Amino acid sequence: SLPPFDHQPRPYKGMLADEVLEKRKKFLGPSLFYYYQKPLNIVEGKMQYLYDETGKRYLDAFAGIVTVSCGHCHPDVVNAVVEQSQLLQHTTTIYLHHAIVEFAEALASKMPGNLKVVYFVNSGTEANELAMLMARMYTGNLGMIALRNAYHGGSAGTIGLTALHTWKYPIPQGEIHHVMNPDPYRGAFGSDAAHYAKEVEDHINYGTSGNVAGFIAETFQGVGGAVELAPGYLKLVYDIVRKSGGVCIADEVQSGFGRTGSHYWGFETQGVIPDIVTMAKGIGNGLPLGAVVTTPEIASVMSKRIQFNTFGGNPVCSAGGLAVLKVLDKEKRQAHCADVGFQLIDRLRTLQQKHDIIGDVRGRGLMLGVELVSDKDKTPAKAEAAVLFEKLKDLGVLVGKGGLHGNVFRIKPPMCFTKQDADFLVDALDYAISRL
Ligand code: PMP
Repeated sequence: SLPPFDHQPRPYKGMLADEVLEKRKKFLGPSLFYYYQKPLNIVEGKMQYLYDETGKRYLDAFAGIVTVSCGHCHPDVVNAVVEQSQLLQHTTTIYLHHAIVEFAEALASKMPGNLKVVYFVNSGTEANELAMLMARMYTGNLGMIALRNAYHGGSAGTIGLTALHTWKYPIPQGEIHHVMNPDPYRGAFGSDAAHYAKEVEDHINYGTSGNVAGFIAETFQGVGGAVELAPGYLKLVYDIVRKSGGVCIADEVQSGFGRTGSHYWGFETQGVIPDIVTMAKGIGNGLPLGAVVTTPEIASVMSKRIQFNTFGGNPVCSAGGLAVLKVLDKEKRQAHCADVGFQLIDRLRTLQQKHDIIGDVRGRGLMLGVELVSDKDKTPAKAEAAVLFEKLKDLGVLVGKGGLHGNVFRIKPPMCFTKQDADFLVDALDYAISRL
């Protein structure tokens, strides 16, 4: 059974799953996107655990899609949000408010180089939308380069950057070029960063006027299936893109705030400093919050137009976001991710030796992927993954699904996930695979 955990969930007397599902279909539109054959009705969360309507406890190894960084309902974040909510919930940035500047200052202190100007928005999609606009305004160019297999958002602009057919819509997508994904496991050039970088150069030379607005990439692709880009890739590509007049954008929506264990930001694992960094998810521990951080030089271009949104950096989200940064520091979560991550990846690699279905174990810290394959040709084990996914849930473990075929388990829990939790997850996976 799950590791012991000292929390008593409140008795739940609300709507049950069947009714919630029926109403959701009726009032929230049809959706392709439910996890589990019978979707879970989650009613409470505490740190790395979730509780369903029956009080059953689940180990949350997906953190609300890599969002709950400190832990569900972390008391410091809850207190900051409650305190600010009682005082002032909203004014917008047409007036001054101390919370937004305190938060911006704290965030800027986490950034390397000259990345010191912060714009607050409400989501990762909005952050990338704004970053693309900045790149285009600053350079005066239109062309954007993104990676195949990338996910950068679902708005009219960012959907063009996203490159997974399951997320595409029939709308015009500007001048966006998708280059080969430097995926060490599935990419045509394996881990050979130089070959992939050459392809970026070719795209610029043969597919554009020679000048581009910018390049965007997640260092650790999330939705695309927990893919860590080939080592050295970003350094080579940033040089190429900058020579072509473009700026380099790092999408840190999933990989920031120390989750990789080795560094605070994902891009640091590749030894680069971007011109623009976008973030969301973990920044708010579940609050609707996103940010774009850039240099004063790029920011100065933005001042040529009014840059404003009603909710971005509202007092409540700012107070919550500041609390998140403080918790992660106070509880030394980056070092904790490294420590637990080493053990977890080690045990998963041992499991890989035992079960042929595990084709690849990858990632760092608490940012891991387990890819399931049916044979030596790496055929995605789609059906088996679906069975295992359900089985893990029955055993009390919730993981994420990723990749075009849903055959990658994404293990990205709240950063308070313990070594006992890691052991339980691996044992559950072992048990489930053994009984396939
Ligand atoms: N970028 C990345 C890397 C993401 O994973 C996501 C969300 N999955 C987004 C952008 C979009 O964020 P949001 O859903 O908050 O709009």
